[in-house]
Amino acid sequence: MDNSSQIFSQIDQQLSAWVDAHREELIEKTQRLLEVPSVKGDPAPGAPFGAETRRALDVALGFAAEHGLTIKNLDGYAGHAEWAAEGVPAGAEIVGVLAHVDVVPAGDGWKHPPFGAEIADGKIYARGAIDDKGPAMAGLFGMLAVKECGVPLARRLRWILGADEESGFGCVKHYFAHEEMPATGFTPDGIFPLVHAEKGIANITLTRPAPPEGERVHLVSLSGGRRANMVPDSAEAVLRQDNAPWAAMRARLDGVVGVRTEQLSGERLRVTAKGISAHGSTPEEGQNAVVLLCDALLLLDHTEDQVEMIQHIRNWGRDTTGGTLGIAGADDVAGPLTSNLGIAELNKETLTLTFNVRYPVTWDAAAVRARLKPQLDATRFVLKEITDQPPLYVPVDDPLVGTLLSVYRAETGDQTRPKTIGGGTYARAMAHGVAFGPDFPGTPGCAHQADECWPVEQLILAAKIYAKAIARLANG
Ligand SMILES: [Zn+2]
Repeated sequence: MDNSSQIFSQIDQQLSAWVDAHREELIEKTQRLLEVPSVKGDPAPGAPFGAETRRALDVALGFAAEHGLTIKNLDGYAGHAEWAAEGVPAGAEIVGVLAHVDVVPAGDGWKHPPFGAEIADGKIYARGAIDDKGPAMAGLFGMLAVKECGVPLARRLRWILGADEESGFGCVKHYFAHEEMPATGFTPDGIFPLVHAEKGIANITLTRPAPPEGERVHLVSLSGGRRANMVPDSAEAVLRQDNAPWAAMRARLDGVVGVRTEQLSGERLRVTAKGISAHGSTPEEGQNAVVLLCDALLLLDHTEDQVEMIQHIRNWGRDTTGGTLGIAGADDVAGPLTSNLGIAELNKETLTLTFNVRYPVTWDAAAVRARLKPQLDATRFVLKEITDQPPLYVPVDDPLVGTLLSVYRAETGDQTRPKTIGGGTYARAMAHGVAFGPDFPGTPGCAHQADECWPVEQLILAAKIYAKAIARLANG
């Protein structure tokens, strides 16, 4: 054992003992924060995401102030609590722990009151218990342990809280426009052991003019999907034709599994398709209803222009690797690009398609655009918009990954490798950060579900892990 690991093994014991001694306070304060129904609401002065998100921010920062941290609330968007140990210069680098106090709406189906924070079977039940107010409190108590055990530090510590993680990151956009970016840190809003690579997320919107009406079956409208990042589970089209009875065509369409038809007035026919939804980061796990609908429509006698349009929708939507769009690819870090046709909308004038694309961490949006262009140039489609969340990538040999991983492994004995994901975590808001917990391997995730909960022992364990991680990161 070298000198520094000897020092840390003593410090680690003190930090664990501190968390154990403050166990009841941690649980009780976590419950009080969970009792605030901090769902996004109407903006009010000082509360851009609603009064309850502001109140949650104030309650949480109040806990930090009770322990002597310096707090700052940035107009209800976000806030922080800072600790600079004696001798740490004012301009020293910052270690950040970034968490959020807003929650998604409770929804139905709860056995425990969603804002009651009841403890039953050793778990705290509440919306926000694991996403993300419980883990936020574990982060605070980790920081407090470091402060109150008098661990020597070279960097400042900041507990940073956002009030709008669930709907657009407006909180951290505002925060980092006004406040210093931490040199390093983590967000307790993902999974253990940690997430070191998150694919880039681009929403690609394509349009083309609606085909003119011809002598054949006319596609009047088509629509499927409401959110780019979900596989559409239903889609519908309206057809019109004046010259032939529908009976034969309906028989053909009704023969397709998942497809139904319904005669409407004015020689129109509604065709609906039912698919299977899935998250936009794993489109291959769903069955895209728009694709199914297009498969059925291609059984009919449309004009050439319409057939070409429907084939493009079908072929691009079916290929979840992005291959038919020309954008397929992969790197060694986080696996292949995925493409989800999330929204399709055809009206009288225009067809609009939106794809949710998760691209490799070593690419950027320009690389996706460059691959897409030659493919589109051969069609009547044009690129209307690409919105981009750049990838997050901290290599496994980066000291941040090494430090967090060694603390986690020493505490739990679990040797699970660092994760890469197609989804996005709060860590993207940081220049050099990863998601570190709170879900432990083997515990089914319950974020955003009815009866969201977190085992009390995991709350305590996470606080110990965070304390030890912060102590190390704060010494560079
Ligand atoms: Zn979250």
